[in-house]
Parts: sequence; structure tokens; C-alpha cells
Amino acid sequence: MNHLNHLNQLFIGGQWVDALEPTTIELINPATEQPFATCVLGGTADVDRAVDAARNAFESFRKTSAADRIALLQRIIAEFIAREDQLMAAVTADIGTPTRQRNQVSPQEFQQAVEILKDYKFDSWLGNNIVRREPIGVCGLISAWNSPIHSVTMKCASAFAAGCAVILKPSEFNSASGTALSELFEAAGVPAGVFNLVRGTGPVVGAYLSAHPGVEMISFTGSTRVGVEVSQLAARTIKRVALELGGKSAHIILPDADLAKAVAFNVRRGFANSGQSCHCPSRILVHRAQRDAAIDLIRSEVAQMKVGDPTDPSTVMGPVATAAQYNRVQSFIESGLQQGASAVCGGTGKPEGLNQGFFVRPTVFSDVTPDMKIAQEEIFGPVLSMLTYETDEEAIAISNATVYGLGAYVSSADPERALNVGREMRAGSVFYNGAPSNAVSPMGGYKQSGNGRERGVFGLEEFLEVKGMVGFRA
Ligand code: NDP
Repeated sequence: MNHLNHLNQLFIGGQWVDALEPTTIELINPATEQPFATCVLGGTADVDRAVDAARNAFESFRKTSAADRIALLQRIIAEFIAREDQLMAAVTADIGTPTRQRNQVSPQEFQQAVEILKDYKFDSWLGNNIVRREPIGVCGLISAWNSPIHSVTMKCASAFAAGCAVILKPSEFNSASGTALSELFEAAGVPAGVFNLVRGTGPVVGAYLSAHPGVEMISFTGSTRVGVEVSQLAARTIKRVALELGGKSAHIILPDADLAKAVAFNVRRGFANSGQSCHCPSRILVHRAQRDAAIDLIRSEVAQMKVGDPTDPSTVMGPVATAAQYNRVQSFIESGLQQGASAVCGGTGKPEGLNQGFFVRPTVFSDVTPDMKIAQEEIFGPVLSMLTYETDEEAIAISNATVYGLGAYVSSADPERALNVGREMRAGSVFYNGAPSNAVSPMGGYKQSGNGRERGVFGLEEFLEVKGMVGFRA
């Protein structure tokens, strides 16, 4: 892996440079529990240097034309396609995502940004005023470990399309992926200083970046707890803060749905990336009369799922990302059992034959009630909860009864009924009949799942300021 050569440096001002305040960590492969590389992290002085580089670069990048930025995005897309295997290998090494999960390294966000830029109106008339949209400035991007490349590309595609310069602080558990992505941007000719990488820990580099007076916006993906801290730090300088936080998404399977299809979708989507996905449909809501049929379908679906070595193309589910996450998920499984839920499949401990690596048994609980911890808290692991309901209204009420509001899912054969249910779900995205997510529809959360939206036009506009040019035309 080429990017392993750059793990001892940071990417600032268009160059690989030594950290001013270096510390060293070992990167652990979650499938083997073995170290695969040593990596240098930076400190606050490195953030200062990256902010200076970004501020200089912003002065010229903000004046580039949409056509210039389209050309840049197209070069990035070409590099993505050329480097797909290398990027995927970095993601798998970092967090154990199976190599077949190629959507993690897709250039689709950049492709969509190109389409938007082709006819987006940065200037428009409102009466005799011009409303102008300009890049907001220098942006700090802080990402979560569960989606090392894709969650960053959502931010970068919009930021570059807008004309912003950025400093990326990936999770320290994404060091290989963050470095591989930086090499890609370098090869694509992203102007010096427009993209900067400062690897580092959250409490040091992330916190300093969030409070930095030279940064106009923070785009954060991570837990609600840290989202609150970042917002407090950013408030001192009135930064814009876009937050993509946790979720506890419900999938309402209406009684008229194709139950087998809906269950199969829920199991596959729920266990994708070992359940470490912010939109994981972690609560399966089935009609009371269909409880037993759903349990049978869940068991047979999970039994077909291959768990194991993520580099094997036939593997559907790899390990969870870290030892801490393994322990956390185990404690949720224990809590489900203690609170009286029944394990339809899975349970505590490691799957048979997988003693090395942070592997978790894919677990589905039935007889879950809405007050249980496993029905309320984000587990971020391969643990799903099945709850039952009697009426559509009860299903909607259960679905909305958490502090989160990120994703929601509805399966039904009746489009109007499905639409009505989806309208009542307090969530930023509603997915119908197993529809995959796409780069066009806005993504973000209601309630404690966040502020702001990523992807498509809404994602672009997060990175733009609005200027009223008053009375320009008499
Ligand atoms: P964390 O909130 O722990 O970390 C997120 C990022 O914040 C990491 O880069 C972390 O750095 C950094 N960080 C930690 N402490 C601070 C601080 N005091 N100031 C600034 N930055 C800090 O989340 P996880 O990485 O554990 O990710 C899991 C969470 O992310 C889940 O809740 C999940 O739902 C959410 N998520 C939301 C998505 C969405 O789109 N809504 C998408 C994907 C995930 P480091 O790790 O290096 O310490």
C-alpha cells in the first residue's frame, strides 16, 4: 500500500511535511488484532500551520469559476476509479469493512457535484436585488471512524464545489484511509492548501480545530456527545456547525408488505459494515400478527450470511472496528438479555471459529419493548431489535419515541399508505421498500441526530454564505 509511506507525515499546503508536534500510534487490523503500521499524529501547532495554508489557498480558490471546479472534480473522479482497490484495502485494514462493500469508495458524491455545478446559479435576482452565494471560507472537517472514505467525500465534494478550502481531521482509527485519500487529492491536482490533512486525536486536534478563529465552519460526523462539545467550542467564534450524528432508525414493515423481501432487506442493511452505520435500520417494527413469520425469516436470512475475513470477496460481515467497540456491543447484548428480550439469533461472545479479531455474532432480538436500552440507544454494532405494533399510528409513535431522527424505513405494497406513514416519521430521510441511498437526496438528522444536510444541492449550500446585493437594479 503506497499510502503507508506517508503515514509518518501530514499533508499541508500541498506537501507532505513532518509534524511539528508528533506523537505515534500503532494501527490495528480489526480482523487479526495485529498492528499493521505505525502512524504519526500531529498537534495544535500543525493545525495552525494547516489553517494558514488553507486561508492562503482560499483567497484564490474562492475566485475560481464553476468550470474550473468541474475540471478539478473530474480529475478527482478519474483518480477514484484508478485507485478503487487501493482505497478499499485501506478501509478494510482500518475498520474491517468487507472488500465487497464498494459503495464505501465510490466517486458518486463528486459525480453528483459535477452535475449540480453545471447549472447551479450562484447569483440570482430577487426583485431588484441580487442574491449571491459565496463559499463560506476555511472549513474544518471532522469525521467518524465507521465510514473512513465515504463520509469524507460527502464533505469534500460539496466544499470543493463551493470553493472552500478544508482541513481534514479523520478519526485516528482511519489513518490509513485518510492518508490514501490525501494522496488521491494530491494526484488529482487539488490546488496547494485547498485540502490539508492533520491526523490527530479528537480531544487535541479536533477540539483545537473546532475552536480555531481562522476556521469559518466545522462539518462534523460523529456521536451526539462529541457533536455537543464541538458546537460549544465553535460557538466562541460563531462558526457555522453542520452535524451528522447518531441514529436509531426504525423500519416499519406494514402488514401489506412483502414480508420476506422486507426482512431480507433489513437484515442485509442492518448488518452492513457490522451495523456500524449511522442509518442502520436497528429497530424492525412488524405487525403483531406477523411476529412468528418474521422470526423464521430473520433466522434463515442470518444463517445464510457469511461472517469472517473481510478480504474474502464472499464475506458479508467482517469484525467491528476496535476492541472498545467490541466490548461496547457485548454490553448491549448482555443488557438486551437482562431486560428480557429473546435472542432470535446470535448472542454474546464471538462467532464459532473466529477467536482472533473483533468479530461479533450477528444478533437479532425479539420481544423488545420501546423502553429497553437496546430499543433506545445507538449500539453501532450488529445487533437489531424487533418490536411489534397493532396499528399504523402505534408503529409511528414507537418509531418517533427516541431522541434521534436520522433515518426511517417503510415497506408496504400501498404507496399512499407508505407515504402517509413516512410523512409522520420524524427523521431526515425515509427510505421506501428497501431503496438504496443516493447522492442526490439530502442526508441529515432531526432532533439529536444533527443539524444541516449533506449530499446534493443541500450539501453544497451548507458550504455557501448568502449575500444580499441590495437595490443593484433600480
Ligand atoms: P466520535 O464522536 O467519538 O468521534 C467523531 C470524530 O470526532 C472523530 O474524528 C474523533 O476523533 C473526534 N473527536 C472526539 N472528541 C473530540 C473533541 N472533543 N473535539 C473535537 N473532535 C473530537 O464518533 P465515532 O468516531 O465513535 O463515530 C460513531 C458515531 O458517528 C455514531 O454515533 C454514528 O451514528 C455517528 N455517525 C453519523 C453519521 C451521520 O451521517 N449522521 C455517519 C456516520 C457516523 P478521534 O476518533 O480521533 O478521537
